[in-house]
Amino acid sequence: MKSICVIGAGYVGLVTGTCLADLGNRVVLLDIDQGKIDKLNAGVMPIYEPGLEELVRRNAGSGRLRFTTRYEEGLADAEFVFIAVDTPSGAEGEADLKSVRTAARSIATVMDHPLIIVNKSTVPIGTGDWVADIINRHRQNGVDFAVVSNPEFLREGSAVNDFLTPDRVVLGSLNRDAAEKVAQLYLPLRARIIITDLRTAEMIKYASNAFLASRISFINEIAAICEKLGADVKEVAAGMGYDKRIGPAFLDAGVGFGGSCFPKDVKALAHMASIHGCHPQLLRAVLEINADQRRFTIQKLRDLLGKLDEHVVGILGLAFKPNTDDMRDAPSVEIIHLLQHEGARIKAYDPVAMENARLVLPDITYCQDPYEVAAGVDALLVLTEWNEFKHLDFERIRQAMRRPILIDGRNLYEPDRMRAVGFTYRGIGRGY
Ligand code: NAD
Repeated sequence: MKSICVIGAGYVGLVTGTCLADLGNRVVLLDIDQGKIDKLNAGVMPIYEPGLEELVRRNAGSGRLRFTTRYEEGLADAEFVFIAVDTPSGAEGEADLKSVRTAARSIATVMDHPLIIVNKSTVPIGTGDWVADIINRHRQNGVDFAVVSNPEFLREGSAVNDFLTPDRVVLGSLNRDAAEKVAQLYLPLRARIIITDLRTAEMIKYASNAFLASRISFINEIAAICEKLGADVKEVAAGMGYDKRIGPAFLDAGVGFGGSCFPKDVKALAHMASIHGCHPQLLRAVLEINADQRRFTIQKLRDLLGKLDEHVVGILGLAFKPNTDDMRDAPSVEIIHLLQHEGARIKAYDPVAMENARLVLPDITYCQDPYEVAAGVDALLVLTEWNEFKHLDFERIRQAMRRPILIDGRNLYEPDRMRAVGFTYRGIGRGY
C-alpha cells in the first residue's frame, strides 16, 4: 500500500485517484474547487462517468480515498503526487499551463519530505523540466524530489475501464529509479509499461491524440468526396478497416471531433511545432477539415430549408460523445451557435449533458426526450451517437415534425430505412 496525493479531481484526477485507491493504495484527492470537494465528501458525483460513482463510494467508505482542498493534508504522508489539473487552450492555441504552475508552486512550498511528482496532465514537451525548475526554486530546505511524466490515455465514457486495462502505461523521467517506483503502482494492471525520458513521454501523448484526430479528419475528407461521387463512406471505412495495417478504429465520419482533448491537443502540438520553426501542415489541415464538418452540416440544412431564420431545428445529443456529460468543445456548441446566428430556433435533448449544456447554451429549449424535441420542428439533427437514439419510434418522430428532415451527423441510421419511414435523410458521406 502506497500513499498517494492526486491533484485535480476532474475527469482524469477523479478516475486516477479512485482507481489507485481501488488497487489498495491510500489516496487523497485534492482540488482547489471547494464545491467539488464538498460534493465528493457528501457522496455526490461532480461528473458523470459510468461505473465511477460505485467505485468512489466503495473506496471512500473503506477509508482508502479521501478528499480535501488543503495541500498540507494532501501531501502529509504522500510518497507520490500526481498532477491531473486542466491544461486548456490559450489564445494562440498553446496549452495554458496556469493550473500546472500553481499546483507545482503549491507542492514546492508545502512539501517537507521526499516526493515523486508524477505529471498526468497533457503538457507541452519540456514541461517536466519546467516543473522541476519551479519546484527547485520554491522548495524549502532542499527536500529531494523527482519528476515523472505519465500521460493519461483514458477516454471519457469508458474512463474506469480504460484506466484499469490500458493498452500501455507510459512513464518518462531522467530519474530511472523514480520511474520504476511509479511503474510498481501499475503492476497490478499487468499492462505493458514503457519507460523513456521525460520529453519523449510527453510527446507520445500529443502524437497519439494528433494521430487519432488525423484519422477522423481523413475519413471526413473521404466522406466529402463520397458525397459528391455517390459512394457510401460507412462501407468504405468498413472495407478499409479490415486491412490489418489500417484497423477499424477512429474511422467514423461525422460532424467532427470535439471534447476537451483532441482539438486542444492538436492545436497545442501545431503551436509547439510553429514556434520551434517547423511547418505543421498536416496538423493544420486536420483542424481545418474538422471545422469544415460543422459548416457542411449547416449547409445541408440550408440546401433543404433555404434561409434558416424562422425555422425550428431539433437537436438530439449535446455531449461531445456518448456516456459523458462533458460539453467542452462539443460540436453541438459550435453548430448551435452557427444556427442561432442564422436565426434558427433550437430545441434539444441529451440524456446526461443538459445541466452542463445550460451553462454554455442558455438560449435553447431543453426537452424531456427525443419525441418532445421532434414536435413541430422543421429538421432534426443528430449530433451525439447515444445508444438510446438508435432505436427510436421513427414513425412517431416523423409525424410529430413540421417537416420530415433528418440530418444524421453521426451516421447512426441506414439511409434506405429512414427514407422508407418518409424522412428526407442526409447522413455524412453516404452518397445520394
Ligand atoms: P478537468 O477540468 O475535468 O479537471 C481539472 C481539475 O483540476 C479541476 O477540478 C480543477 O479545479 C483542478 N485544479 C486546477 N488547478 C488546481 C490546483 N492548482 N490545485 C488543485 N486542483 C486544481 O480536467 P480533465 O479533463 O480531468 O483533464 C486534466 C488533464 O488531463 C488535462 O491536461 C487533459 O488534457 C488531460 N487528459 C484529459 C482526458 C479527458 O478525457 N478528460 C484524457 C486524457 C488526458
